[in-house]
Amino acid sequence: MQKIKYYSTNLKAGKVSFSEALLKGIAPDKGLYMPDRIPQLNKDELASLKDKPYNEIAFLVLNKFLSEEISQDELSALVKDAYDFEVPLEHVYDRKYVMRLDQGPTASFKDFAARMMGLLMHYYLKKERRKLLILTATSGDTGSAIANAFYDLDNIEVVVLFPEAEVTDRQRKQMTTLEKNIQIIALDGKFDDCQALVKKAFADNELDYLNLSSANSINVGRLLPQSVFYIYAWARLAGISQNESVIFSVPSGNFGDLMGGLIAKRSGIPVKKFVVSTNENDEFPVYLNSGIYKTIVPSRNCLSSAMNVGHPSNMARLFALYNGIMDEKGVVHKAPDIDKIRNDIYSVSVDDSITKSTIAEAYYKHHLLLEPHGSVGWAGLMEYLKDNPGDNNKEQLCVSLETAHPAKFPEQIREILSIDPVLPTSLTGLDQKKEHFITMNNNFGDFKLFLKKNYR
Ligand SMILES: *Cc1c(COP(=O)(O)O)cnc(C)c1O
Repeated sequence: MQKIKYYSTNLKAGKVSFSEALLKGIAPDKGLYMPDRIPQLNKDELASLKDKPYNEIAFLVLNKFLSEEISQDELSALVKDAYDFEVPLEHVYDRKYVMRLDQGPTASFKDFAARMMGLLMHYYLKKERRKLLILTATSGDTGSAIANAFYDLDNIEVVVLFPEAEVTDRQRKQMTTLEKNIQIIALDGKFDDCQALVKKAFADNELDYLNLSSANSINVGRLLPQSVFYIYAWARLAGISQNESVIFSVPSGNFGDLMGGLIAKRSGIPVKKFVVSTNENDEFPVYLNSGIYKTIVPSRNCLSSAMNVGHPSNMARLFALYNGIMDEKGVVHKAPDIDKIRNDIYSVSVDDSITKSTIAEAYYKHHLLLEPHGSVGWAGLMEYLKDNPGDNNKEQLCVSLETAHPAKFPEQIREILSIDPVLPTSLTGLDQKKEHFITMNNNFGDFKLFLKKNYR
């Protein structure tokens, strides 16, 4: 079998190996890397997954992509390291489930991708005897997932910029209590200012010697691990011998999570439908209805804040998967096969008032505790079932993704349910730890000087 290569969605750069795509992050033509072939899991392989622990399923799936790049022993050790936490599938009613992706070190589904990406980067850098400086801007959750995933990796330094006034105490503490190779900067500015400084640093030739890289959601190293939990859920819940199909509901912002699901489907698990649930940033449901894609600028602020995205960066990948071309600005150069997209995907926008009422309804009706992102997912699934009576029966297997722990949103949960969600162990004890971060004015000169002084 030919080795899998990674092409740029803009189609103006050459194909590269996985390790190159991983360490580069973005292609030279500003496109996103995509595998040129999606490896298949055959019937026997699928059947063998049934009772396997998560890390073994991750090994089987990722080995399909990486077998030419990394030895089986080494990959097996990496996935064991990355996935040492539970992935609960909570039964709600009939054959309806919620998959809780919130048991990782920062209690968000981003841990699944960030941990694996960090370990893979560490592995390739060691092999090539190189070092890397990761610069990342965060509005809260991504920064802590990255900081925790890269913590104590000896050939990677991490600098995280966050807007001083825009993150919660808990979000800040998840980043600032780590130290070692993790440097946190509180910027006197907004998230966009943080992002602008990072972009300027990448474009500055004088900083080339630092070997800068980003670890954001567009890195293909984050994409592949996100296909694993779909396969895991199917293997655990579906009747494998009768090839039972499943409906997934995915609360979506940048569509990286959804892309993982679409790759899982292409690799062989039977998915009847993906319900793509967005908040009031409804550019995608509008596109599916009208065939016209329009970004939302500025994006709308909703309760499910990690999904406040007016132009999902992975939309270019979704178009590529369906034979279309979209550039990084959201301009469509070739229309995708929209009928095929509509066949695979149903999309619905869930506003803040339904997000809240769904948290209450799920709790009182099913004793199901959701936070705003998971609530958007669950509300989207309920809407789909109402809209598709043929699938609205006791037997249809459905899995809705819960992407963060309810305890990360104590104010909202208290307001709606008058209860205090119990903190997961990963988030306890933060208040006792000492914080370390520096503050900086929103000035590129200062930032550049800081990098030159502290890294070489
Ligand atoms: C990032 C995030 C999402 C959205 O995931 P995408 O891959 O960007 O679509 C949903 N929920 C939570 C809690 C997140 O942090």
